Amino acid sequence: MLGLGLVSCGDDDRTVGDSPAFGDERAGTIDDDTTNDGGTTDDDSDGDGTIEEGTRLTAFDTDHVALANLDPELLDAVQQATEAAERDGIELLINSGWRSADKQQRLLDEAIDTYGSIDEARRWVSTPGRSKHVTGEAVDVGPWDAAEWLDEHGDAWGLCRIYDNEPWHFELAAEPGGSCPRLLFDASEG
Ligand SMILES: [Zn+2]
Repeated sequence: MLGLGLVSCGDDDRTVGDSPAFGDERAGTIDDDTTNDGGTTDDDSDGDGTIEEGTRLTAFDTDHVALANLDPELLDAVQQATEAAERDGIELLINSGWRSADKQQRLLDEAIDTYGSIDEARRWVSTPGRSKHVTGEAVDVGPWDAAEWLDEHGDAWGLCRIYDNEPWHFELAAEPGGSCPRLLFDASEG
């Protein structure tokens, strides 16, 4: 199984656990070159939703397109969860949010290279037509303690872990305070 987590659901080929984002000092700002307030940046690599390694985004960093293009209900839920987590001493970071269909396809192509078949790749990276990241309806959180915290408490805001093999991936999948659906085995199911 070692190595299978490296692609996750398409998160820039990094895992929740070994990302430099979790070891770095917290950066004061995410996009130093951001000069507009339209939710996008001038950097093409950011425009597709890429969160560069070493950045530490929270749900409140909505100047980044990965957050700005999220479904507003999801964003609101994650922001509330972030504040609640902080009260529990947990810093909840966003490793992936919205991403473009082009980026999703690139991630899938890379996963096919990594895993050798589209069937195996699709366990970890959805197609652009199926990915909830492309529609702005999913976030990948970290570090591990934050993912565990959200798995335990997220249903208060309707935030649910969806896949057994992706403990960092959350979607709005319940009414606030309701019950989350049963876990799917992986992204190829359901
Ligand atoms: Zn995900």
